[in-house]
Amino acid sequence: MEKADAVVIGAGIMGLSAGYWLAQRGAKVIVLDKGRVAWEASGRATGFLSLRGEQPLEAPLAAAAETLWSTLDERLGYPTEWLPGGRLWVALEPDRLAELRDICPQWQAAGIPVQLLDGAGARAIAPCLSEQTLGGLHTTRGGHANPQRASQAFAWAFRDSGGAIREQTPALGITVAGGKVRAVQTPNGSISTPVVINCAGPQVGLIAAMVGVTVPLAPVRLEAMVTVPLPRLFDVAMVGHGLSLRQTRRGNIHFNGGPHEWVDVDLTGEPAKPGTPVIRNIARRLAELFPSLANTPVLRSWSGVLEVTPDQTCIIERLAAPDGMIIATASGHGFGLAPSIGQAICDLALDGRSQVPIDGLGLDRFAKLDPGWRALRRWTAGSYNT
Ligand SMILES: Cc1cc2nc3c(=O)[nH]c(=O)nc-3n(C[C@H](O)[C@H](O)[C@H](O)COP(=O)(O)OP(=O)(O)OC[C@H]3O[C@@H](n4cnc5c(N)ncnc54)[C@H](O)[C@@H]3O)c2cc1C
Repeated sequence: MEKADAVVIGAGIMGLSAGYWLAQRGAKVIVLDKGRVAWEASGRATGFLSLRGEQPLEAPLAAAAETLWSTLDERLGYPTEWLPGGRLWVALEPDRLAELRDICPQWQAAGIPVQLLDGAGARAIAPCLSEQTLGGLHTTRGGHANPQRASQAFAWAFRDSGGAIREQTPALGITVAGGKVRAVQTPNGSISTPVVINCAGPQVGLIAAMVGVTVPLAPVRLEAMVTVPLPRLFDVAMVGHGLSLRQTRRGNIHFNGGPHEWVDVDLTGEPAKPGTPVIRNIARRLAELFPSLANTPVLRSWSGVLEVTPDQTCIIERLAAPDGMIIATASGHGFGLAPSIGQAICDLALDGRSQVPIDGLGLDRFAKLDPGWRALRRWTAGSYNT
C-alpha cells in the first residue's frame, strides 16, 4: 500500500497551504481532490484578506496571514498579485452607516486602525463612488490577491517541495483502527497514513461523518462577475451595497454579492453552478455604487459554493478521537486566512499544537447546537438571503 506522512483531502487553497508548510518541514504529503486544483471556492473567491476585527478568536490567524501574504511571492516563487491596499466599507443607506458606526469600536478594540469617513472622505479613496455615498469605514490594513494565481502558487510550490497532488481522486472512506486514522480509501486504492487533514470545503462535514464526527455546516452559493480592465480607480478591497469588490492589478473590477442561495452538496459531485437572476441583481448594485461604470462591459460571470459554520467562524481542530484527524474550515473567509491556517494545520499535524493561537476554534463550542439550526436561520437548500 502507498504510504504518506499526511493525506490532505481537498486541493483548495487551505489544503494546498497545509501541504506546502508540511512539505517544507520534510513531510511526505499527498493532496487528493475529487476534481481539479482550486476548481471550487478557492479559485472562484474575490480574494480579500479580512483582518477579522469583529471576531477576536480569528484575529491572531488574520494578523499572521497578513504578514505572510507580503512574503508569499518570494517564498512560493510564483506571483499571487497581493495588493496591500487596505479595506473600505461603504454606506449608501443610513442603516448601513449606523452599522459601520457600531462595528468601528470592535475593530479598534482588536487593535486594528479604522477611521469613520463621511461621503467625501470615502470618495477621496475611491472617486468613482456614487455621490449618494453617505460615508465609510476605512483601514489601511489588509488587502487582496488573485485567487486563481495564489492557489496555483501554493500548488506549484507544494510540488516543488516534493508534494504530490492527485486530481480526480475523491476520498471515499477513512480507515480507523485502535482509535487512530490509518488510511484513506480512493478509487485507485488506499493510502496508508497516520494523519488525515480534512480541507474538503463544503464537503468537510461529509468527510468528518466518515469517522463518526458531526461538523455543522451550511453550503451556500455566491455569484461573481468581472469587467473589462479599466484605468486605475482604487486599491482598497471594498465592501458596500451588498457587494464585495476589488480592482485587479490588470484593472478589472471583480465583484460578488447579492442574495446568497443556500444549497446542499454530495461527496463527489459538482455543486450545481448555473447562472441565476442573482447575476442581474449584482450588476445593478455595481451600477448604483459606481454610476460612471454602469455601461462597462462584463467579461464573464461565475458562481462558487462555500461553507458557513453556525457562528460564521473557523473550525480548526486536531480531534482527540480518532487520533490523527484534523478538520479545517474557514466559514467563507478561508482565502485570506489560508497562509496562516495552513501553518496552524502543519503545526497540529507535526507538533500537536499550533503556534498561532487557535483557542476557541474547536467543535466543542457547538455541543449544545439545536439540530434544526439551519432551518432556524433559513439556511436550508433553496432559500436565499445574505
Ligand atoms: C464567490 C466567492 C467569493 C469569496 N470571496 C472570498 C474573499 O474575498 N476572501 C476570503 O477569504 N474568502 C472568500 N471566499 C471563501 C473562500 O473561497 C473559501 O473560504 C476558501 O477558498 C476555502 O478554501 P478551502 O481550500 O477550504 O476549500 P475549497 O476551495 O472549497 O476546496 C475544497 C476542495 O475539496 C475538494 N473535495 C471535496 N470533497 C472531496 C472528496 N471527497 N475527496 C477529495 N476532494 C474533495 C473539492 O473538490 C475542493 O477542491 C469566497 C468564496 C466564493 C465562492
